[in-house]
Amino acid sequence: MRRVVALSGGVGGARFLRGLVRATDPTGVTVIGNVGDDVEVLGLHVSPDLDSVLYALAGVSDDERGWGRADETWTAFQEAGRLGGESWFQLGDRDLGLHLVRTQALQAGEPLSSVTARLAEAFGVEARLLPATDDRLRTWIDTPDASYPFQEWFVARHHRDEVDRVRFEGEETAEPAPGVIEAIEEAELIVVCPSNPFISIWPILAVAEVRSALERRRVPAVAVSPLIGGRAVKGPADRMLDRLAGGTDPVRVATCYQGLIDVLVFDKSEADAAPGVDNVGVRPVPAPTLMRDEGSATALADVVLACA
Ligand code: GDP
Ligand code: CA
Repeated sequence: MRRVVALSGGVGGARFLRGLVRATDPTGVTVIGNVGDDVEVLGLHVSPDLDSVLYALAGVSDDERGWGRADETWTAFQEAGRLGGESWFQLGDRDLGLHLVRTQALQAGEPLSSVTARLAEAFGVEARLLPATDDRLRTWIDTPDASYPFQEWFVARHHRDEVDRVRFEGEETAEPAPGVIEAIEEAELIVVCPSNPFISIWPILAVAEVRSALERRRVPAVAVSPLIGGRAVKGPADRMLDRLAGGTDPVRVATCYQGLIDVLVFDKSEADAAPGVDNVGVRPVPAPTLMRDEGSATALADVVLACA
């Protein structure tokens, strides 16, 4: 398999991608990353999902904490907090170095895709990492009591509020970043990573041209479910699926990507859900989907590549 496009959120996507670049030639992999989570903290532009992918592919992520960089220190962040600065969104010293470079580039007028490519090169990442869009696209969470910007709901409120609706500010005008549509059109396989459908993948699909390029694909598109036994490995995907899609079984994951996928890989412990997935026109592929380590992530990527 030469050319693979993968749609990815943060941590779940990143764990899978570490396997994908071992299972296939990394220089043929293009990751299209979510920017709906982007946020300004302490005056800096933070792109949490792009950075999770970047750090994972560079081999510098903190796998125990589950986000950010390994060997991290927190001096600048603690000092900022002590001085009355924003402290709701944790940023380590190494992480801050990246945000400084990105913010300066964006302020100088460089597109996000361009600075992301420079950062990936500086980290020696062989796969190509593209934001879905260079335009401002922000996820909003509507809850029964209020609407929150994504990170306020996710980080500051620990995603405790139930979600009635997910919205994407800027979706009417967001254009795909340079290279995104070409990568989709030239791909031999399209993969939707085991990311949260609503808040990691839908913001990518909110870019209308990205969605239509996927709809008119002539190659297989394979999604990997982020749920195992109806439960998210981490985060609110199960609660969101239950409330927004009416259940947490594999067929509900498949319906999140209606018209956009041909195959759903989901955990083999739920193999009895296969007929339901088949019924919505998606080929069910039960497989071990828990990514304990690089080996299990690579084995999962092998299953996905074999679906092509
Ligand atoms: P975020 O942007 O950092 O929240 O990350 P993603 O949206 O990319 O990934 C979050 C999803 O990854 C959650 O719904 C988890 O259930 C899922 N996830 C994490 N680890 C695993 C795993 O080992 N296997 C599977 N199938 N899903 C996982
Ligand atoms: Ca995210």
